[in-house]
Amino acid sequence: MAVTLQDTKLELERLVADATKDFSEVDESRSLNDLRVKYLGDKSVIVNMRRNMKDVPKEDKPEFGKLINKVLGLINESFEEAKTKIETAELNAKLEQERIDPSLPGLGTKLGHLHPLTQVSNDIVSIFEKMGFSLVDGPEIENTYYNFTALNTPEDHPARDEQDTFYTKLGEEVLLRSHTSSIQIRAMERLKPPFRIIGHGRVYRNEEVNARKMPFFHQLEVMMIEENVNFGHMKWVLNEFLKQFFGTDVPTRFRPDFFPFTEPSAELDAQCVFCKGKGCATCGQRGWLELMGCGMVDPNVLEMAGIDPEKYSGFAAGLGIDRFAMLKYKINDIRFMFNGDQRFLNQF
Ligand SMILES: [Zn+2]
Repeated sequence: MAVTLQDTKLELERLVADATKDFSEVDESRSLNDLRVKYLGDKSVIVNMRRNMKDVPKEDKPEFGKLINKVLGLINESFEEAKTKIETAELNAKLEQERIDPSLPGLGTKLGHLHPLTQVSNDIVSIFEKMGFSLVDGPEIENTYYNFTALNTPEDHPARDEQDTFYTKLGEEVLLRSHTSSIQIRAMERLKPPFRIIGHGRVYRNEEVNARKMPFFHQLEVMMIEENVNFGHMKWVLNEFLKQFFGTDVPTRFRPDFFPFTEPSAELDAQCVFCKGKGCATCGQRGWLELMGCGMVDPNVLEMAGIDPEKYSGFAAGLGIDRFAMLKYKINDIRFMFNGDQRFLNQF
């Protein structure tokens, strides 16, 4: 079939117009590729025309060839233009996504902090360490000897009762320590007097949970065994400790009390640091706060631990770390200490 130059020119003009329009409107790579196949691919009109050059009259061939090359060039140009436009747009979109604004504030790193109980026990320990006391430790799972017997607690003492103490299935002798005094007994067996020690940790008692009580809490023990230690030494050490802990001179009073492992025994009250003795909600309008039990170590306890009571004497005191933390930070419910609520913990 003969192909006339005139027809071809018209067809090519239309082709160039269509291609230019299509390429100028395309705006993403996949459609661009479809257009490239349509206008420049193996089955495209222009490639077909070049293939069919053999049907063109001999005299028209040079012009025909030139025409096709020109059209190919124009379509290619449109294609390259569209390609550049799309690639630039895609690159800009990517850059926009990855754009960094150096004027924005940094994200920052959230630092953790110590639990208020840990802060308070660290404070207490460091005050006693400055007075020459060293920190000792003991197990939370104890046996009745260290928890009761060596502390002069009689076999029929109610504290030994299952209603007060958590016994374990490891045998009837094995329990969760009900006070940290057991740490003192282990230390007395191990150390040679003179010594000044403190020990602290978690203790367990079979208590109902309420605002003031938990089945576990934290105690700290203080003990000083030397020659000629008397009640006056104890008063000085404990008063000095309270002064440093509360940051002010605190009037105190020692009321007689009873503990199996000290004789004489006393309860140490401090004038309420919040109302200065006038009476407030924290001290229950009494003007005094009960802070710790203390006393001179019973000679029987010294003897059982292998310390000569004729030569040495000493005092022991025990306080609740939870109570000190509650006083220091004015917390009115002990359960806040243990429920892990960030709104509470982040205040410290
Ligand atoms: Zn008060």
